[in-house]
Amino acid sequence: MTGHTPRHAVVIASGGLDSSAAAYLLAAQGASVSLLSFDYGQRHRKELDSAAAIADQLGAVHDVVDLTSVGRLLAGSALTDPAVDVPSGHYTDASMGITVVPNRNAIMLEVAVGVAVAAEADAVAFGAHTGDHAVYPDCRADFFEKLTESVRAGNEGFLAPGFQLVAPFLHVTKADIVETAARLNLPFHLTWSCYRGEDLHCGTCGTCSERREAFAEAGVSDPTPYATAVVR
Ligand SMILES: [Zn+2]
Repeated sequence: MTGHTPRHAVVIASGGLDSSAAAYLLAAQGASVSLLSFDYGQRHRKELDSAAAIADQLGAVHDVVDLTSVGRLLAGSALTDPAVDVPSGHYTDASMGITVVPNRNAIMLEVAVGVAVAAEADAVAFGAHTGDHAVYPDCRADFFEKLTESVRAGNEGFLAPGFQLVAPFLHVTKADIVETAARLNLPFHLTWSCYRGEDLHCGTCGTCSERREAFAEAGVSDPTPYATAVVR
């Protein structure tokens, strides 16, 4: 989904590596960026502080949308239900299905589109990448293309000219994101990935596994203190 550089992008900012890199990339391309985060009762709520820190670095506006009342109803996911443990492993493992939060990205993207329309922004940006595709259907190109159509129909006459959904990493790997982010001087130490949301990155949940492998593959030094050593 590559289009023109937006004038003003509302970036869905989880405080993780991917969305932070997306914000840095758009800013480097000359777009004005606003960061929008979502509190859906995720156990790794501390990622919201990371999103705030990244916004601060960029001098960008940062808003947090309170979806906790919705999140409570999305029970059964390891990310929102305290009764369900976060699995260790990779996104390609069957066990990762439990980390899907029902319809999460559609919910967040639709809210972000509303915010963008109200702010007369001409883009909503999202940090999904190829590594997400295995487990999360709402990170795939087919979903973005259809959502773009739906957004255009549902806001006809109200969208800023050239409005687009931007997913700059949709067709690249997380290692590619680390490489790009390193070039853009993203302060990696401010980003938060771990689903477990404890003091340190656990190092073994799906997103920690992806994070540490992406740094290794990219040949970029990983400043993240992990609670566990690399297991290979
Ligand atoms: Zn973790």
